[in-house]
Amino acid sequence: MDNCIFCKIIRKEIPCNKIYEDTDIIIFNDINPAAPVHFLMIPKQHIDSLYDTQDDQQSLLGKMLLLAPKLAKEQGCEDGFRVVINTGRVGGQEVFHLHIHVIGGRERLAPMIHSN
Ligand code: 5GP
Ligand code: ZN
Repeated sequence: MDNCIFCKIIRKEIPCNKIYEDTDIIIFNDINPAAPVHFLMIPKQHIDSLYDTQDDQQSLLGKMLLLAPKLAKEQGCEDGFRVVINTGRVGGQEVFHLHIHVIGGRERLAPMIHSN
């Protein structure tokens, strides 16, 4: 995807603060962190959102979820963390390349849902 910011990061056209990479996945720190630890887990294959995932991506999605606690611990989340996948307009998704936010730090995170 030519104009996708995360595809540009995957192609190394835009720099990132990378913490993990393999053939399927790249993981780097969020440019605008919401907490002391805030990284993004991204499949190298361009998938617009969680709505667009397919049955044959089960192992890719599982692999990412299994990596989350390992990397969270490595990054300093010893006592919990939060995983978020913003999806679509209502979910507040801003970058339409599927990504998993992993957010944590030493203090308890703020409540997640602010209803109006
Ligand atoms: P979304 O709202 O789509 O779930 O979150 C997109 C996230 O991507 C935001 O937290 C934003 O700070 C992050 N982001 C957007 N552009 C860049 C970038 O160029 N580099 C990095 N590292 N993060 C980005
Ligand atoms: Zn993309």
